[in-house]
Amino acid sequence: MINGEVTLCSRDCHATWLSDEFTGEGHPNWRGGGNAAYGKGWNAVREAALERDEYECVYCGVTAEKLGRNPDVHHIVPVRVFVETPVLIEQDAHTLDNVVSLCPACHRTAEFGRVSRAELRWRGGIARHVYPDGHGWGSKTVASPSSSAL
Ligand SMILES: [Zn+2]
Ligand SMILES: [Zn+2]
Repeated sequence: MINGEVTLCSRDCHATWLSDEFTGEGHPNWRGGGNAAYGKGWNAVREAALERDEYECVYCGVTAEKLGRNPDVHHIVPVRVFVETPVLIEQDAHTLDNVVSLCPACHRTAEFGRVSRAELRWRGGIARHVYPDGHGWGSKTVASPSSSAL
């Protein structure tokens, strides 16, 4: 499933945690793997993100032309967080303010948690988003305590 070449949220990230956490767990939404498991809305938001980011890596600025393909589109808050949060579903992860375009190298860096979510949002020009359940997503620079009551 992972061919070692493409590091895509919709394949690599997903396949990794799918095999770690969901294999054999009877999680019907996630059977089958691949892009289909990301459900409705993923392709649309992926394309919208690429357009917003002008087909460039928001972190290092490399262009699709230089890459020879489109940058990956990375979920700032991983899809599994949405799946694990009872009031949310995976499609809630597929919003423009939760995705950024990253080249494979920067994507890997982000996957390893070496880039904060706040920084990814900032680089992607994404305004802070208040989630309906009040999750702060562990980011240092967002959400002051008083605003979480909103
Ligand atoms: Zn990713
Ligand atoms: Zn990059």
